[in-house]
Amino acid sequence: MSSAQHSVTVMGLGPMGRAMAAALLDRGYAVTVWNRTASRADDLVARGAALAPNPADAVAANEVVILSLTDYAAVRAVLEPAAPALGGRVLLNLTSATPEEARAGAHWAAGYGAVQLTGGVNSPPSGIGQPESSTFYSGPREVFDRHRAVLEALTGRAEHHGEDPGRAALLYQLGVGMFWTAMLGYWQAVALARANGLTAADFLPHADDTANSLPQFFAFYADRIDAGVHVGDVDRLAMGMASVEHVLQTNADAGVDTALPAAVVDLFRRGMEAGHGADSFSALVELLAKPGK
Ligand code: NDP
Repeated sequence: MSSAQHSVTVMGLGPMGRAMAAALLDRGYAVTVWNRTASRADDLVARGAALAPNPADAVAANEVVILSLTDYAAVRAVLEPAAPALGGRVLLNLTSATPEEARAGAHWAAGYGAVQLTGGVNSPPSGIGQPESSTFYSGPREVFDRHRAVLEALTGRAEHHGEDPGRAALLYQLGVGMFWTAMLGYWQAVALARANGLTAADFLPHADDTANSLPQFFAFYADRIDAGVHVGDVDRLAMGMASVEHVLQTNADAGVDTALPAAVVDLFRRGMEAGHGADSFSALVELLAKPGK
């Protein structure tokens, strides 16, 4: 490990930034931290981290600067006053962003002589430092390779996905979009279960079975979707329409909020109106991809 890789700055000490700084300390890195609310650094300082008094000093302290902030507006708010210190810095920006924001952020940093490696972390804070956790990165390959040890200290798997700084953000948003939607589906089901006298624990085995069945559907439909085939041989949208209406009605009968199941019914109805009733419900991908058509 080179000395450059053995010393790192972490800016942003929410649950994620704190877990990252702690994982780096565990591995013997010299860690400089900065956070808007300085008290969040207390535990890390007690473990040997250096607390920078301001963003400019935090940036100046190390070549590698990890950014773990709420969003890119926060990144800009933190880095703008520190801009003169950015020359020669590698910004590991692990802050959630749209691909366009990530590209604009990389462009902005380049204007001050810094290089951004965009990261999308596929793990909650508890997975930081764990070998099975992964992060998508995109940006200069040479920077990724040079700082691989730091990246693998954060999550055991560090995946490079090309030079476009927006690509890692895109991959992250794909997964996180599925996560929020699936978890909302789960909350809805728990609310419905509860309205019918079942606890979340009662429902858990059935919820697990349902979730565990999803990968076989992904695998079955992926090739068909890529080939533009939505033949209704194993399912029909019209069948799905009846099913999602039953889900909506069951929620309504139980007095549970119907916003989410009603939105699902609305999408299925639009598929029916577009003439896909006899097709697989995978035809909804076409509707989602080109909503006006
Ligand atoms: P939080 O939003 O809890 O905290 C992020 C940090 O941002 C805090 O240190 C906060 O400072 C700082 N911050 C926010 N706004 C400003 C601002 N205007 N100026 C200065 N500092 C600001 O996020 P997490 O730690 O949970 O996550 C960090 C990033 O990692 C996010 O982009 C998140 O989407 C992503 N992520 C999080 C995961 C998770 O499970 N937590 C999982 C995967 C990715 P202060 O302490 O002063 O409020």
